[in-house]
Amino acid sequence: MTLTPRLQTLPPQARSLYDWIIVGGGITGAALGYELTQVGCSVLVVERSPTPANATRYSYGGLANWAGTSPLTRDLCETGMARHRRLSEELEADTQFREIPLVMPIATDADAAAVAADFQTVAQPPQWLSRTEACDLEPLLNPAAISGAFVVTQGQIAPDRLTDAYLQAMGRQGGQVAIATVQALVQRSAQVTGVMTSAGAWYGANVVICAGGWSRQLLKQFGFPMPIYFTHAEMVELPPAGVSLRTMVMTAPLQRPALEMAATAPDRAAAWENPDQELAPPVLDAGAVPFQDGTIRIGQLSRALSHPVAMVAAAASEAAIRQAVEQVLPALGGVPGTWHHCLVAFSRDRLPLIGPVPGVEGLHLFSGFSTPLVVLPTLAQRYARQIAGTPDPWLPQMTPDRLLS
Ligand SMILES: Cc1cc2nc3c(=O)[nH]c(=O)nc-3n(C[C@H](O)[C@H](O)[C@H](O)COP(=O)(O)OP(=O)(O)OC[C@H]3O[C@@H](n4cnc5c(N)ncnc54)[C@H](O)[C@@H]3O)c2cc1C
Repeated sequence: MTLTPRLQTLPPQARSLYDWIIVGGGITGAALGYELTQVGCSVLVVERSPTPANATRYSYGGLANWAGTSPLTRDLCETGMARHRRLSEELEADTQFREIPLVMPIATDADAAAVAADFQTVAQPPQWLSRTEACDLEPLLNPAAISGAFVVTQGQIAPDRLTDAYLQAMGRQGGQVAIATVQALVQRSAQVTGVMTSAGAWYGANVVICAGGWSRQLLKQFGFPMPIYFTHAEMVELPPAGVSLRTMVMTAPLQRPALEMAATAPDRAAAWENPDQELAPPVLDAGAVPFQDGTIRIGQLSRALSHPVAMVAAAASEAAIRQAVEQVLPALGGVPGTWHHCLVAFSRDRLPLIGPVPGVEGLHLFSGFSTPLVVLPTLAQRYARQIAGTPDPWLPQMTPDRLLS
């Protein structure tokens, strides 16, 4: 993903007062930027890198529309999926939306009945396939390593393409993007009036933080610490190599939700404030995801480390990922590829933080989505419409102050 073609380094005389300044040009900032221009706001997205190595860039792009567990998440998944089906047309760019089986193999020593019980709470429970049926559906699976698999059809988009499409569409509606690192807020007493960046000051009536896993550190640096967290995620990208997956493969049960819960247990609060702390042991969710350009992403190691720039041992991580993936998909373990690392934001109740940051006027947060891709188009649209004056029935459940107690 490269932002270069659409970027302007705006000259100072072009620096007007924006209705909204968005910090972060990943998929959340891009979606919100587009929706805000849709309701008539003037918008500036400030992204620090022309080629962001962010969570959006390395994401699997899965739209887990089947996985809603409450009236709120079921509605958001349903409306989000409906919107994804139309987004290529609306944004006039191919988001590479498709529907594809998600195969969740169960290791021979894992408890398939417990996984099945967990799936009973979701909107569309995945179906059990025998070992033979699973290998017929995904011939790269290793029959010796699995007892069977759960399968469900889910959506997928190319996250960098969708981000690009949102930003281009935003640009056609007058929104602007600038490459600069936001270093501080501009404030007049208890009112935020802009951002100070590596390229100078930009002024706006509202500033919204869409910095993904960096949001926690940024808000703390600005003097408004918020209960938003991050994991360090590691994956390996395989270029087109003549090995093709028919499905998305993700071993079940997924480990990452338990890591997020353990890392935000009440007794971990103090550790987040200290550098170099490991909040919980790392987890590895072995999986492999194909994209329409022939690349495959394998992973995913997740670590809960308190510092966003903590060192991770790339070679050891890549070896661990390859070993875990090779167990399930032997043909993929040895395909050359490139290791990548990024931060992924999350909240302690798995709902995003959307709304004003308490204690100051004009500062907002739109982040903390664990698996945002299916719900993001809906939530960005609803938030923009609420800003434009249409109260939303769901958004009050997601305001940041719900987690401040
Ligand atoms: C391997 C992997 C697989 C995933 N698979 C899925 C999936 O299948 N489905 C799903 O729903 N989700 C998935 N996710 C999660 C999802 O991709 C991310 O949650 C989402 O992309 C985060 O988007 P974001 O915009 O919040 O953050 P990011 O994409 O991280 O963007 C934040 C941006 O903020 C910028 N920034 C930070 N600080 C500053 C600053 N001071 N000034 C200016 N800019 C700044 C950064 O440069 C960055 O570009 C996956 C994540 C990973 C890593």
